[in-house]
Amino acid sequence: MRLDETHDPALRSWVASANADGTDFPIQNLPFGRFRRAGGTAAWRIGVAIGDQVLDVRAAREHGRWNPGAAAALDAVAGGDLRPLMALGAQARRALRTALSQALAEGSAQRDALLPCLLPQEAVELTVPCAIGDYTDFYTGIHHATAVGKLFRPDNPLLPNYQWVPIGYHGRSSSIVANGHPIRRPLGQTKAADAAQPTFGPSRRLDCELELGFLIGQGNALGEPVPVARAEEHLFGVTLFNDWSARDIQPWEYQPLGPFLSKNFGSTISPWVVTMEALAPFRAPLQRPAGSPEPLPYLDSAETRGSGALDIRLEVWLQTAAMHEAGAPAVRISATSAAEAAYWTAAQLVAHHTSGGCNLQPGDLFGSGTLSGPGPQQAGSLLELTQGGKQPIRLPNGESRTFLEDGDTLSLRGWCERPGTRRIGFGPCTGTIVPAPAI
Ligand code: CA
Repeated sequence: MRLDETHDPALRSWVASANADGTDFPIQNLPFGRFRRAGGTAAWRIGVAIGDQVLDVRAAREHGRWNPGAAAALDAVAGGDLRPLMALGAQARRALRTALSQALAEGSAQRDALLPCLLPQEAVELTVPCAIGDYTDFYTGIHHATAVGKLFRPDNPLLPNYQWVPIGYHGRSSSIVANGHPIRRPLGQTKAADAAQPTFGPSRRLDCELELGFLIGQGNALGEPVPVARAEEHLFGVTLFNDWSARDIQPWEYQPLGPFLSKNFGSTISPWVVTMEALAPFRAPLQRPAGSPEPLPYLDSAETRGSGALDIRLEVWLQTAAMHEAGAPAVRISATSAAEAAYWTAAQLVAHHTSGGCNLQPGDLFGSGTLSGPGPQQAGSLLELTQGGKQPIRLPNGESRTFLEDGDTLSLRGWCERPGTRRIGFGPCTGTIVPAPAI
């Protein structure tokens, strides 16, 4: 992951809001999303976030001047689908990033041509960043796996395969929803430990999972594994991802084939994909607890050890309905970092997923698994933050929570910042719980 002139922290944009302190979208970020005018029914278009504006990529193709490489990349997304650009691979994406950076930089001769291609973000609505193909949810957070394992199996918290196999299951992409989409409390089958038989009704232990989403760029042919040393080339970018979970449905249904209805009623993805290039200044060595075994050779490379992790700060914020009505702001209930939490890198996930011959396709999504840090206030789920529902979280207005109530709004936040770099962010990843359907 090389750094180039697009990462220069001194680079400024003629879009003034992109130069503001604390913006998620300075010119060093340039994430992709799908937008249309708010309240409209027009087809989705591809946009690039810059400050508090969206650059309409199709309009920019028509009005701007582009070199052949950038023009080909812009043509790929003219139909409103990111996947043709994903399929072009990292080199085309880099050419487009360089051209967009030059066009949006202070002093660019393209300013007058591109100014009419900007829309205020507050005037648009955003959807899922691409049509998501297959979705796989991993379990890379070792502190989460250990803490949850302790709740389910006190004598054997971390199963012996964990430090050898990147654990995952094939999920369901149809229920992945855009930022702001309401999350309906699921109905399901639950069984209390002392009950003779299960009952059916609304989940009473509705939880969040703080995850990253990795979107696949170029795919691989069926039967042709991707070596770990080349796995990065198949990653397009990263989003925030909330894998809402029903903790009372989960323990009854998960044996022996894994999660099912406890996970497939809704997952929220953030609207902007931060590309692997934008994340280049924020790479970190892979951190593993002392005594962890060396990975098998097909999961090991100098690059994945030295810079395979992502230094992304992550937070979980909660606002109850009562707080909302009183005008009280959301409160932060957890803060952690992806580099501290993940036992496996995204490249290792690609290498493992394809190692048996499985083909990945542009627009496939990997969930990282819940990214809990080592400390008690760094947990990425309420299950951990409340010790399985035994220690409620006290909120400033006197309310408390073990699991989510109807009307609760939960938001994930993510950003990268390091000395000598420009801070970049991921934008919102929010959902509000609405009541279960009547039985
Ligand atoms: Ca998950």
